[in-house]
Amino acid sequence: MAIFGNEHRLVIVGAGFCGATIAYKVASELDLPVLVLDRRGHVGGNSYSKFDDETGIEYHQYGSHLFHTSNEAVWKFITQFSPFNNYRHRVFSRHRGKTYTIPINLMTINQFFGTDFDPAGARAFIAQQAAAENIEAPRNFEEKAVSQIGRPLYEAFIKGYTAKQWETDPAALPTEIISRLPVRFGFNDFYFGDLYEGLPTAGYSAIFDKILGHPKIKVVTGCDYFDVRGTIDPQVLSVYTGPLDRYFDYKFGELGWRTLDFEIERLDVEDFQGAAVVNYADIDVPFTRIHEFKHLHPERRHGNKTLIMREYSRFARRADEPYYPIGRQDDKRRYSQYKKLAEAEANVIFAGRLGTYRYLDMHQAIGAALNLYEKKVAPLLTGRCVKSDGPESDDLQRQSSPSLVPTRNAGVDEVMERRPRARSDR
Ligand code: FAD
Ligand code: UDP
Repeated sequence: MAIFGNEHRLVIVGAGFCGATIAYKVASELDLPVLVLDRRGHVGGNSYSKFDDETGIEYHQYGSHLFHTSNEAVWKFITQFSPFNNYRHRVFSRHRGKTYTIPINLMTINQFFGTDFDPAGARAFIAQQAAAENIEAPRNFEEKAVSQIGRPLYEAFIKGYTAKQWETDPAALPTEIISRLPVRFGFNDFYFGDLYEGLPTAGYSAIFDKILGHPKIKVVTGCDYFDVRGTIDPQVLSVYTGPLDRYFDYKFGELGWRTLDFEIERLDVEDFQGAAVVNYADIDVPFTRIHEFKHLHPERRHGNKTLIMREYSRFARRADEPYYPIGRQDDKRRYSQYKKLAEAEANVIFAGRLGTYRYLDMHQAIGAALNLYEKKVAPLLTGRCVKSDGPESDDLQRQSSPSLVPTRNAGVDEVMERRPRARSDR
């Protein structure tokens, strides 16, 4: 029984940035009807935001989402739906009762060591500490970190935070996770180094309402694909952006994810911490960071109250929302097994963060979706070529995220590993 009607030429599972981008391109450029399903009660995926009734402050339900990109096509795409403010992200880290700037930069180094180095002096000093570790070819997160920033900075700002964030021995974590965090020998303390950065002035949800409000797109929220799958014509092309292992009923076991618990508090103070995000580096503080969302929109008038959100990290169980792919060796092995099944699945394209088991930033999810539309979805829907079934991942991720785990742009001066186009990647 076709409960959604059978006029749709494309079914998209997931109304996050990946699904929404593909839906919009198909609707607006091919003029074809698209059905978008999401099991949550709202669209926007993890980028969803809403305005708090009590304080009037917009908050991001799944943690602060900072938009930044150097990809012109992505920026052009997203800004057609909203202007962006000029917010530039800075993060601070609390360690033993003091506040430092993160990523580690010249100010952090001088403050931490009580020195007054210039850039060259700091570089030489850190190089000396790193050399003491005697690690030539780092094989894991910890080796990578200490071989590049030395042990004192690692133990102060990385070790405790990472223990809370991943609950995994840093020696068992891949090097790519720490490669997301640059280290700089100048005073540049901006978190990102992209050409474009900012927050949508009317919020993320307003963007999603515009994208998915296209008359050719039908959205059904509160609908789990697996509850209605049997009613969807298997001949109709689908783009699945849900978890890859769930699609195959966990046949090879679960892919490892971290999930987060968020604790919201409304306070009768105008400014709780002076910045949008403060990390808590010490292991004896149970949360990893506190978000204070009003700082993301300096252009708005906010009242005397504030809204903060503490973030706690733990291993995801099946019923939890998966947030960060862990990417241990057994995850990589399982992913290859699922990938083979995905390649054999007719009329389904696996995409997005969950469908490809990759950490993607929003700009990467949009970039990958634009690419997927051009290379696979549009040709298939218009008969320009025959789909070779399989996950879009490898093809698409090459331009966004090369591994199973997060990568982030590193600053010009960083000492941790970076890739050639590092500045554009988060
Ligand atoms: P999602 O947004 O996760 O959307 C997938 C959708 O599929 C979900 O809505 C889900 O409900 C739905 N779905 C899953 N299974 C089913 C099913 N069976 N049936 C129906 N629907 C289903 N990126 C940035 O650029 N900047 C940031 O600052 C940033 N911060 C982040 C902080 C956190 C804590 C996290 C977890 C992510 C952050 N990101 C950030 C990444 C950003 O959230 C992702 O890039 C983006 O969500 C990817 O979009 P997506 O469409 O692939 O996945
Ligand atoms: N990290 C850390 N201390 C910090 C910030 C980051 O140890 O103050 C490490 C941690 O392991 C984290 C990784 O660097 O998982 C990547 O940091 P990022 O800020 O990219 O994490 P996200 O914002 O995506 O959670």
